[in-house]
Amino acid sequence: MSSASRSACACDRCGCHLDRGALRYEMRVGVRLAPSARLITDEDLDEDNLHEVASILESLPDFQPAPVEPEGHHAAFILCPSCCRRWRRDPLGMQGSGSRH
Ligand SMILES: [Zn+2]
Repeated sequence: MSSASRSACACDRCGCHLDRGALRYEMRVGVRLAPSARLITDEDLDEDNLHEVASILESLPDFQPAPVEPEGHHAAFILCPSCCRRWRRDPLGMQGSGSRH
């Protein structure tokens, strides 16, 4: 098992074959709750602040979703040079979705 082939891999985006030594890029993506997101802290729960917190909670819509994965989510992908170039131009894939050639 330890001698498993690590000599080649594929681009995680387009699936093209990448030989050992071929130019490739590691893309690390991380998502976490933005620092400005309103969270209730211990400080907020001070007696002095309780009425303020209560009014904040009342002003929030009922359907306010709970924060997802507050500790963040990280992933790493291997990209070929052409996918890397495309990603740098359009990181969110907003352009050309639906029309690729
Ligand atoms: Zn690719």
